[in-house]
Amino acid sequence: MTRILQIVNAIEGYDPEALHVDKARAAIRACLVPVAESVRLPVREALGRVLAQVIVPAIDVPGHDNSAMDGYALRHADLGADQTVLEEIGAALAGRKFAGSLGTGQCVRVTTGAVMPAGADTVVVQEVVKLRDGKVTVPAGQKRGQNVRYAGEDLKTGEPVLRPGQLLRPSELGLIASLGLGEVQVRRRVRVAFFSTGDELASIGTALREGEVFDSNRYTLHGMLMRLGVEIQDLGVVRDDPAQLEAAFRKAAADADVIVTTGGVSVGEADYVKPMMAQLGEALFWRIAMRPGRPMAFGRIGNAFLFGLPGNPVAVMVTFYQFVREALLQLSGRTGDCALPLLKVPAAEPMRKLAGRTEYQRGLMFRDGGEWKVRTTGQQGAGVLRSMSEANCFIVLEHERGRVEAGEPVQVQPFEGLG
Ligand code: AMP
Ligand code: MG
Repeated sequence: MTRILQIVNAIEGYDPEALHVDKARAAIRACLVPVAESVRLPVREALGRVLAQVIVPAIDVPGHDNSAMDGYALRHADLGADQTVLEEIGAALAGRKFAGSLGTGQCVRVTTGAVMPAGADTVVVQEVVKLRDGKVTVPAGQKRGQNVRYAGEDLKTGEPVLRPGQLLRPSELGLIASLGLGEVQVRRRVRVAFFSTGDELASIGTALREGEVFDSNRYTLHGMLMRLGVEIQDLGVVRDDPAQLEAAFRKAAADADVIVTTGGVSVGEADYVKPMMAQLGEALFWRIAMRPGRPMAFGRIGNAFLFGLPGNPVAVMVTFYQFVREALLQLSGRTGDCALPLLKVPAAEPMRKLAGRTEYQRGLMFRDGGEWKVRTTGQQGAGVLRSMSEANCFIVLEHERGRVEAGEPVQVQPFEGLG
């Protein structure tokens, strides 16, 4: 196995002591190897999974030329420069075909989705025609082929429509179902084992002693991992004790593709977390030029990739979303760019920022009249989890940028999507 250090050292501008967030992302991306195994699932259960096969239609969708509107199917050649009177000879309903065929001067009533009657090439919507005694008067100005959906217009027999690496969203489930397929081959889920470290951590259900805090990071991690659709293994709180840490790391590495830990990776940390990571596998200890979330470990223990996230409650979320999220999506076998979108919104207020690091401030986007703006949410300390809870986006202030004045555009990453 190629050593991680060898791979990351080849990245231009890689500096573990002051790592630009883009370089950290590139370093991680260069090391990851997606999971290969796949499973066959009923279409509904494949929601949120990554396709492991190519989908090639065996049928056209739609299967026949059909009407896009309720109206009258006719032969365009019959229409004159002025209005035209046609004879109505029958009806074609969705799912019920018109058996005959149109002759000169004839039309057939059609509903949306009805197979186009033989001989007809155009549909006129019912709202514009006049009906009298079985005669249909069509106004001038109709275009040939209007309001007709053609066979294979959506999906064509033999033309691949979905490829391996495609995330299966509701639209893909529908698309697969429209081909009559009941099952699909998808990658297996990425398995993530995680635990918290620190002697000051108390599990919920125990009494807090002086100097202790409840272990909240395992709950935020649980939430973030669940939303990404990975398989999780929660290994609890692990004391800062070599034997316990070793046991936890070994257990995690035995089953998981990824190990996520929180705490114990700070620069001044004198405990056992970092030495244990280095002893059991290969671990790089980074100082990332970002705020919050400066310290982070990345490496591998056995076959599992390791993310040693900082302990501060906001820092663990920021580093997860900025590095681990994309890594998990890449490992899941997804192709294409999985980065969160960055949108530009004017700042509603000045923002303090130091050049030389990327800052992830917690923001609240809001509508001011017709325009979206963003402001920060309260105290921005790395330990103030409330700043995340009150936020609906990250305000991503670029590495080089200094102080932001009110009205200047800033980049935001909204927390919520369609899902
Ligand atoms: P560390 O990264 O271990 O230096 O921790 C930084 C800060 O985050 C300290 O104030 C810790 O008490 C706090 N912290 C560490 N782990 C957790 C956790 N699992 N839940 C809540 N706070 C934590
Ligand atoms: Mg600590």
